[in-house]
Amino acid sequence: MEKIIQELVNTLTDDQFLEFYEKVKQQSELIKKQKRLNEIDQKFRAQGIKCPKCESYHCVKNGHNSEGKQKYLCKNCRASFDASRNHFIYLNHLIY
Ligand SMILES: [Zn+2]
Repeated sequence: MEKIIQELVNTLTDDQFLEFYEKVKQQSELIKKQKRLNEIDQKFRAQGIKCPKCESYHCVKNGHNSEGKQKYLCKNCRASFDASRNHFIYLNHLIY
């Protein structure tokens, strides 16, 4: 397979090669980005905190409410919620 690619690359002009190189680079960046996103997703999934609004697992701790309970912020839809009661606090509507 590598030999075939090598032969193919040899037939390209410098411009074509650069174009090919850029595409390969972009593709590998995309794969890396997707892999990182998957890793992040896995990490948050393991925590088991799910946004009640959009069902994303991409939620981070966001201080405490007046009763001292942990609050979470969904990084996906920016909803703020209290995981223990699954209760929404629409802070995002007040702020944005
Ligand atoms: Zn959400």
